[in-house]
Amino acid sequence: MQRLKEKIIKEGSVQGSNILKVDNFLNHQIDVSFLNEIGREFARRFQDAGISKILTIEASGIAVAAITAQYIKVPVVFAKKTESKNLDQNLYQSEVFSFTKGKTYQIMVSSKYLDNNDRILIIDDFLANGRAALGLKEIVEQAGAELVGIGIVIEKGFQPGGAILREAGIRVESLAIIKTMSAGEIVFEK
Ligand code: 5GP
Repeated sequence: MQRLKEKIIKEGSVQGSNILKVDNFLNHQIDVSFLNEIGREFARRFQDAGISKILTIEASGIAVAAITAQYIKVPVVFAKKTESKNLDQNLYQSEVFSFTKGKTYQIMVSSKYLDNNDRILIIDDFLANGRAALGLKEIVEQAGAELVGIGIVIEKGFQPGGAILREAGIRVESLAIIKTMSAGEIVFEK
């Protein structure tokens, strides 16, 4: 997606060796009209996939998933990262090691919201080592639902997540794939 690449170059900044900060439009401030283009593009790519629900993870995935859902016209379910008294007792659960926070946390989805009739599209903002996506995939499996694909806004192609998921036979659609990045330069695969 050309406009996404231009925005990453213009508004993104590289932190250390492998974190891309895009707080200006995706992870802190949200550029809603630009997210509309992203949502429309995911909907176009998965239009024939018969999706019944979009699954994402709080917090940054929610905005992208919700806008995509407006085009696909299905509900969004987001995995919660924190225990809460008002969460149901019957849960699908999995563990995710957070790349940006350096710690492992539980993700949880109430069994009310996914079942074995669902065809799931997973959406997330970034793909790095694939831990978040694999944790969500495990939740889809616990529900007995079908994973039809994964939509990622920015994949860091120099980290192994994309290869792990594609080698597992999963359809992964990333709108921008970064080949290499450093403080001065970001090079895209596509
Ligand atoms: P993974 O689980 O694939 O290792 O990492 C994906 C998750 O970590 C995403 O949900 C995203 O929130 C976060 N993440 C990974 N790499 C980056 C990055 O370079 N920048 C930002 N902003 N988030 C990242």
